[in-house]
Amino acid sequence: MLHLAMVRYLTGFQPTGILHIGNYFGALRPAIETQDKGEGFFFIADFHALTTIHDPKILREHVRGVAIDTLACGLDPQKACFFRQSDVPIVAELTWILSCVTPMGLLERSHSYKEKLARGISSSHALFAYPTLMAADILLYESDVVPVGRDQKQHLEITRDIAMKFNELYGPVFKLPEPSIRDDVATIVGLDGQKMSKSYGNTIELFSEEKALRKKIMSIVTDSTPVEAPKDPANSTIVSLYRLFATPQQVAAMEEDFRVSGFGYGDFKQRLFEIVWKRFAPMRKRREELLKDPGYIDEILARGAARAREVAEQTISRVRRAVGIGGRIGG
Ligand code: ATP
Ligand code: MG
Repeated sequence: MLHLAMVRYLTGFQPTGILHIGNYFGALRPAIETQDKGEGFFFIADFHALTTIHDPKILREHVRGVAIDTLACGLDPQKACFFRQSDVPIVAELTWILSCVTPMGLLERSHSYKEKLARGISSSHALFAYPTLMAADILLYESDVVPVGRDQKQHLEITRDIAMKFNELYGPVFKLPEPSIRDDVATIVGLDGQKMSKSYGNTIELFSEEKALRKKIMSIVTDSTPVEAPKDPANSTIVSLYRLFATPQQVAAMEEDFRVSGFGYGDFKQRLFEIVWKRFAPMRKRREELLKDPGYIDEILARGAARAREVAEQTISRVRRAVGIGGRIGG
């Protein structure tokens, strides 16, 4: 019987905060879809999060939160390998080895690094070297496809550059990952109409309590058009968020109601609240089950780490042999 090699998809989730609907539609849902297309390798990128989070209690909370929320949203540990990055510390060894062939200029061109500095995050060696750790994640697990948003496109190019440089020096050790840029997922807007981002304080979190969720949605910024006056649906944050959840007919109905008089923004926000609340209801239920069984998360992550380690050990053996470290030196 012919066995075709499964395509391996790799996706990392940074535990830098509480997951929001931008993360869900932009990253989590597309990642969950890949678990039926090939072999999914999903990890919680806690080494990456260390670049910005320096409180151990908060980091642990976010790691646990991201694990629970991703499982609640449908990541299936029976189908995919789900693990915590730091449980396979070989990735740190590979990062060092890759650093030794990574030109400074390559990292100096990183948009994401420059953007983080511009936002006031203090510079560190790790923040600068972040793309090298990302390259190590991708190359260690021999990923075929890494589905990323536009913001991560350059990091993937850096990974390919580092892998090619290494292969040129030492022979064909690394498989080059194929870029898969998700242009179809638009940037989801936050409460203030800007890109929804944990660090902008404008998020709608996936699993808020009912009252908190309603309050968040009621705080979406609108203009001051009165109830009696017609409104423009074209640039409305409410409509653009509603579109993520509603059928085309429901969207058309809301747009129509924008254009006639008699509906206030409060009515539309209430409609948005109801549909968001309903959409995440089954996931909320699963999440409650997961919260009742804390041992389960550790068990899943330990199993995932064991599988990830198998792949990592094979790759690092080839790398060590290629560069000349480890093994017997007696001659
Ligand atoms: P931070 O503010 O710390 O950068 P974030 O909320 O932007 O946090 P990230 O951890 O940077 O979240 O991103 C995780 C994933 O979610 C990435 O794949 C990113 O492309 C995607 N993502 C984040 N925000 C949005 C958004 N508003 N719309 C679509 N996708 C998003
Ligand atoms: Mg971001």
